[in-house]
Amino acid sequence: METVFQVVMALLLTVMAVAFLLKFTKEFMDAVGIAAYGLVPLSKAHRATLERWNAYYRTLDHAQRKEFDRRVKELLYEKDWLGKGFPVSWEMRVRIAGTMAQVTLGLERVLLRHFTRIHIFPGAYVNKRTGRRHLGEVNPAKRAIVLSWAHFQEGHANPADGRNLGLHETAHALWLENSIENGEDDFLETDLRLRWQELAREEIARINAGEERFFRKYAGTNQAEFFAVAVENFFERPLDYQATLPDLYACMKDLLRQDPAGHGPGSPAVHPGGAP
Ligand SMILES: [Zn+2]
Repeated sequence: METVFQVVMALLLTVMAVAFLLKFTKEFMDAVGIAAYGLVPLSKAHRATLERWNAYYRTLDHAQRKEFDRRVKELLYEKDWLGKGFPVSWEMRVRIAGTMAQVTLGLERVLLRHFTRIHIFPGAYVNKRTGRRHLGEVNPAKRAIVLSWAHFQEGHANPADGRNLGLHETAHALWLENSIENGEDDFLETDLRLRWQELAREEIARINAGEERFFRKYAGTNQAEFFAVAVENFFERPLDYQATLPDLYACMKDLLRQDPAGHGPGSPAVHPGGAP
């Protein structure tokens, strides 16, 4: 009896030791991987993907591109990329990570860390909880950003129509991330955020009174949708946005610390005065 007990204990200890070693090895390898990854630049193929598909990336100068690349690389490594019923290629990951890098580019160290999972459906999907058809959504409880790949691609097919699913969902994630206490929160300056909300309230009221001037009607749904639609237009129609709604544009420029009208797509003056 005593021998059986000793054998069971020995087995148990062996299993625990192996589990400990495996965990330690994994953590060690992850740490080595992250350190090594930090030293390697974003691959030429990935940079070519950004160059081809991200119109905003093409307008950036060398230093801005370097920072953009660094963020894409980190996003590729840190997020779990989950295809829903189909494989997720590197091109898909790079294009989506590129959109996230685009929105966060001016915000130091912000990589939407709360949102660890990127779920990608081939097309529109039905949300099991609501029973409604979606093209994309942000789910803070599941720490997920969800996208229909077909509709994400439409955003890149026409980069100047003010409609871009990737930018839209990233904007939702950014707004939420700002208030999730995780060490990466509170990066949107409070005064600017309050100013933004005040200006947004006025514009939402106009839209809902049938007096929309620039944003599509959907922006009048609520503050969150207004911000998401504004981000789409900020990057895709910056000059018209600035000309039509200068106060809102200026506030968004300060909030995101980027100025697409200064060097964005369609800008007549790329880097005026040589400044980025
Ligand atoms: Zn939305």
